[in-house]
Amino acid sequence: MKLDTRALRYLNSDDWRVLAAVEQGSKNHEVVPTPLIQQLAGQRGGGGAVHRNISTLAKDGLIAKVKNARYDGYRLTYGGLDYLAMNTHRKSEAIYSLGNQIGVGKESDIYVCAAQSSRQLVLKLHRLGRISFRTVKANRDYLRGRNAGSWMYLSTLAAQKEYAFMKVLHREKFPVPEPVAWSRHTVVMEFIDAFPMRMVDSVPNPGKLYAELMAMIVQLASRGLIHGDFNEFNILLKEFTDDGKPVDDDTPPEKVNLTPILIDFPQTLSTNHANAEYYFDRDVECIKRYFGRKFKYTSDEPGPFFVDAVKNIDPERRLDVEVEATGFSRKLAKQLEKYVEAGGGDSDEQQQAEEGEEDDEDDAEDGDEPADEETTGAEAVSNEDGSVPQDPQVDDPRLAE
Ligand code: ADP
Ligand code: MG
Repeated sequence: MKLDTRALRYLNSDDWRVLAAVEQGSKNHEVVPTPLIQQLAGQRGGGGAVHRNISTLAKDGLIAKVKNARYDGYRLTYGGLDYLAMNTHRKSEAIYSLGNQIGVGKESDIYVCAAQSSRQLVLKLHRLGRISFRTVKANRDYLRGRNAGSWMYLSTLAAQKEYAFMKVLHREKFPVPEPVAWSRHTVVMEFIDAFPMRMVDSVPNPGKLYAELMAMIVQLASRGLIHGDFNEFNILLKEFTDDGKPVDDDTPPEKVNLTPILIDFPQTLSTNHANAEYYFDRDVECIKRYFGRKFKYTSDEPGPFFVDAVKNIDPERRLDVEVEATGFSRKLAKQLEKYVEAGGGDSDEQQQAEEGEEDDEDDAEDGDEPADEETTGAEAVSNEDGSVPQDPQVDDPRLAE
């Protein structure tokens, strides 16, 4: 779905309050009854006023009317969630202006944007549920039964997780974009002026780049982490000259150096995960296969191997433990993981391999609202201030089997 920002400017403060009320009401109502919206919005002046705001928001597609067996009400749409997140980023001055869409991931939309300082940034909107159920077909029912609210919840978890990992990785000087802000299903981060490795036909020194990438996988593991989707789509190659300057048309090819920058962290996992070795090997294999195929480069060295990479982990410096304790709890991780295991979030690699093989039936879910409209049970999407409950005391019923 497109991020349509036209209405961002003309919504008045009451419209915003009512939109926030629908979001807040969604925490324990799958369909938020109109009187509750009015109450949460704290509007006086009778029902007339709130109805006007509701009709504006519904017209702009930010909320949708739902007829339920017992009462009529409204639910937030992805568009509404986009607006609430944008507004939070605008108010916190993370984002000043929004630019073009530069990427449509299988489960995200990527926009360039700018801070007031005109620093270029990227806004990543997570859109879980926008997949086409190709890989793990046995589990598709788990995914199909999701309602719009639970997709928003999972997208919010994905953004929260991505931000939490990027934060510690950037602090520890791993080559990742600097994360700037997080709200709901969105992350704002540094813009990297570079192409994904996928789009690069040749590199000056494949052996060197290969060694750097393998070293990165090993360094991540030595801090307790596995990226889990380490491939040519998620590695951006930044060019610079021998003396560290940006490359221009006059730079001779032998003077061009490449630095790999790693992106895309929602599937990152701990080296303590039950299948850690499998994911570690898969990351390593992805790079091996790609270098063999694309750059005709095969290393003489075996490995790297998981057992070696995790042999000397310093328990005091584990980033998986730190993120779990402070940024993204194990319970939240499990909720998201269930989705990934059920075939959502297949790796970009798989996505590529399967392009052209999809059957129509499996693609039925592509569209504005990811899953069926029928709603069942609801829980927190995020707090009014744009944060997500750190660790909900109750499991989200929408995520129950
Ligand atoms: P997805 O989860 O959908 O794969 P990614 O985070 O991998 O999303 O981003 C998709 C694409 O958007 C990337 O392949 C890259 O081209 C672009 N992109 C993402 N983040 C940045 C960034 N910080 N700077 C520049 N381009 C980016
Ligand atoms: Mg990606």
